[in-house]
Amino acid sequence: MQRLGSIGIDIGSTTFKTVVIDNNKNILFSKIMTTETFIEKQIERLFKEEIKEFNTDKYTIIATGYGKEMVTSANRKYTEITCHLKGLFNEINTACTIVDIGGQDSKVIKCSSKGELLDFVMNDKCSAGTGRFLENIATRFNLEISQIGEIAMSTVGEQNISSTCTVFAESEIISLISQGVDYREVLKGLHTSLVRRIKSMIKSIGIIEPLILSGGVSLNRAIVELMKRELDCKIIVSKNPQITAAIGAAILGLSE
Ligand code: ADP
Repeated sequence: MQRLGSIGIDIGSTTFKTVVIDNNKNILFSKIMTTETFIEKQIERLFKEEIKEFNTDKYTIIATGYGKEMVTSANRKYTEITCHLKGLFNEINTACTIVDIGGQDSKVIKCSSKGELLDFVMNDKCSAGTGRFLENIATRFNLEISQIGEIAMSTVGEQNISSTCTVFAESEIISLISQGVDYREVLKGLHTSLVRRIKSMIKSIGIIEPLILSGGVSLNRAIVELMKRELDCKIIVSKNPQITAAIGAAILGLSE
């Protein structure tokens, strides 16, 4: 039977991404959903409802991300590093350093001019360098995650946050706010502390310019701006930061 294309499924700890492409890599469908507790049911619904018009006998299915093992119908599973690399190299087509900051982990991936993996470093042990850190802060300030970056950048001043741990940073916030400090300056300082954590990951493996920002956290304007301020190098934000790995998975499916 002739294959019509490929389905890439990236189940992250925070978001569940699906991309369907045709044999020429054109995107036919893409969707970002919140990852549910019962992932198996969500996968079942995906095939029965969301992508039911794509006959799975005619599309290769590739899974990646933290929930990839749950996709029992997948023809193959790849790591997020492989899928990110594939998806971003398809977009950028140059040697680069990819910084992917997701909901519960962050990765720095060095890519050669041929799209090969040269080196990588990953943090999935501590929430302080991840999107979860920002989500906790948004909750603490009673703000939407989509607002906090803009608010942080709406002030010139900035508070120095010395705690490197999410829990201690929260105590520091309370202490600063109770001293009457402008909450926007605190927010900006918190963003800087995340950026500095990522910077030390980048420094640990060295940088090949340009630096490409990917993952949901690159939707946060303060992270992008402060990354530019802290790292004196060329920075590009991926066109589709949250679905890069799903696109990469789908592209990998075309060579099955
Ligand atoms: P994962 O693949 O690890 O499940 P994502 O790459 O989707 O996660 O990133 C999720 C993170 O992206 C959230 O923790 C949040 O910090 C950030 N995020 C998501 N949407 C937005 C938005 N609209 N504006 C700013 N940040 C966002």
